[in-house]
Amino acid sequence: MDQTTTELEELLKQKHLTDPELLEAAERAEDFRILPDATVVKIGGQSLIDRGRAAVYPLVDEIVAARKDHKMLIGTGAGTRARHLYSIAAGLNLPAGVLSQLGASVANQNAAMLGQLLAKHGISSVDNAALSAVPLYLAEVHAVVFSGMPPYGLWIRPSVDNVIPPYRTDAGCFLVAEQFGCKAMVYVKDENGLYTDNPKTAKHASFIPKISVDEMKAKGLHDSILEFPMLDLLKAARHVRQVQVVNGLVPGNLTRALAGEHVGTIITAD
Ligand code: ADP
Ligand code: MG
Repeated sequence: MDQTTTELEELLKQKHLTDPELLEAAERAEDFRILPDATVVKIGGQSLIDRGRAAVYPLVDEIVAARKDHKMLIGTGAGTRARHLYSIAAGLNLPAGVLSQLGASVANQNAAMLGQLLAKHGISSVDNAALSAVPLYLAEVHAVVFSGMPPYGLWIRPSVDNVIPPYRTDAGCFLVAEQFGCKAMVYVKDENGLYTDNPKTAKHASFIPKISVDEMKAKGLHDSILEFPMLDLLKAARHVRQVQVVNGLVPGNLTRALAGEHVGTIITAD
């Protein structure tokens, strides 16, 4: 046992968990990344999977080709079916915790479909948050599919003003990347990245190639292309200090992003 660990153990016995001395000692302990070679790739629900075959087949081909050079944890979004469920359940006055479970069922459906499409290439989808066999899948076939919704369920921290679960699949995938200490986090959506306004409705919106969390908030873009709690998760992250949003409708973008190229919008923690 090295000196830092011994010191930390002594402090743990004596001190309150948020004691400044204890926190400082924890900070000095060596950092560790669980899966440092893997990239988490979120495939958008609304933006990609809901477009069906035209959007999904080319991405499947790209994933199969890219895994020769890259290790990927592929998380799925939920999308239109989840929005439909949220609106019905909210109309029935059901709480955020119930909506969170409903949303998870849709992300599960998308993971199930993507898993079947990748099955013949040896790529499986794995159930639930434990993700315990992920290292084996990554070592053997370089890719695995998971359902992007974080499993908070009934225990989700609700928003202050509405019942829509604030932590959905953008946050779920990011947390996987951060907790596993992954190399990178790539969001695959249907726009080139972040714009000054929603490009679907604002014709003169201009593209923003790179931006920090603080700049995004200052521009009022905190709830635009990523779920708003994501920005605070990114800012507080230890490992994954930037994410990239790319247009998955453009062939080759995902592969280039996996190689570390700047092809969409990079959002940085600082
Ligand atoms: P996902 O399918 O991953 O859930 P979303 O549909 O939630 O993705 O988010 C992507 C969408 O965000 C884009 O299709 C775009 O219409 C919308 N959007 C809103 N504001 C912006 C913005 N400022 N820049 C880019 N996209 C934006
Ligand atoms: Mg979304």
